[in-house]
Amino acid sequence: MRLTLRAPVSHADSIVSVHGTLAGEPLHFMYSTAGTWHAIGGVPVDSEGSLVGSATIERASGKTETARVRFVLPKVPPPVAQPLAVDSSFTKPLDAATTARINRENERAREIGRRAHDRPPMWTASFLKPRTSVITSEFGSGRLFNGALTTRHLGVDFRGAMGEPVRAANRGVVALVDNFFLAGNVVYIDHGGGVVTAYFHLSKTLVAVGDTVKRGQEIGLVGNTGRVTGPHLHWAARYGAITVNPLDLVALGGHWYVSSTSRPSTTSRTSAAR
Ligand SMILES: [Zn+2]
Repeated sequence: MRLTLRAPVSHADSIVSVHGTLAGEPLHFMYSTAGTWHAIGGVPVDSEGSLVGSATIERASGKTETARVRFVLPKVPPPVAQPLAVDSSFTKPLDAATTARINRENERAREIGRRAHDRPPMWTASFLKPRTSVITSEFGSGRLFNGALTTRHLGVDFRGAMGEPVRAANRGVVALVDNFFLAGNVVYIDHGGGVVTAYFHLSKTLVAVGDTVKRGQEIGLVGNTGRVTGPHLHWAARYGAITVNPLDLVALGGHWYVSSTSRPSTTSRTSAAR
C-alpha cells in the first residue's frame, strides 16, 4: 500500500520527525516535496474488512499531530488453482523433525523481516525483477497438488535453466544465506525500511551474510534445490513480518519512494523513537 501524508508547512515550527503504523508494522515516511511525505505499508494476504493506519508528526516546538485513516480492503478473490502433478513423495505428510525444521526456518525468515525496520531504506532507485524471463506462477495463485488445493503461492516464479543468473532487486545487505528444506539454497536481502527480498532454489549462491549488494548485482544462479520439481527462481518479499507481492515493489517505480540525499530523511529519528 502507498501512503502519502501532507502536513502544513510552518517555517516557524518545522517538522522534525514523522512516524506511523499499519497492520502492526512501523511505517518509514520519506520526505518528498514541501509538506509531503511518502511511505509504503504491507497488507497481510487474505485480510479482509478494513485496516487502520496512523501517522504522527512531531514539530520542533515539541507539538505533535496524529492522523488516523481507515482503509477498506478490496475483497480477496479466491485463488486461481494451478494444477501441478507431482510425485507422491511431495504429498506425503512430513515427519515431526522435518516439520520442526520448516518452522525454525520460517521463524528465521520472519525475524529478518522484523530486523529490516532497524535500518533506513537503502535504495535510491526502483526495484528490479531478479530475472527478465517469463513469470510462470503469480503471487497468490492457489496450489493444486495432484488435484488437492493446498496453500496460496506466496512468491513469484520466473522461468530459468540451471545456472542462469539471479540479480538483486535493489541495493541492500545480505541477511541470510543458507539451505532450507522447502526453499533450498536461499539468499535474503535486507533493503532497510522494513523491506526484504528473498531468492529460492538456487544452485549456487554468490554472496555472503553482511555483504552490501548493488541493485542488479548477480547474487546466485538458478537451480532446483529444496522441494521443487524443476529449476526456476521463486522470488519472495516481506514488509516486516508480512509476506507481500514482490512485483508491488517493482510497481512503485523510480521516483515515488526512494531515499533522498538532497534532504535528510527522518527515518533514523523514527526508528530511534520506537
Ligand atoms: Zn514459487
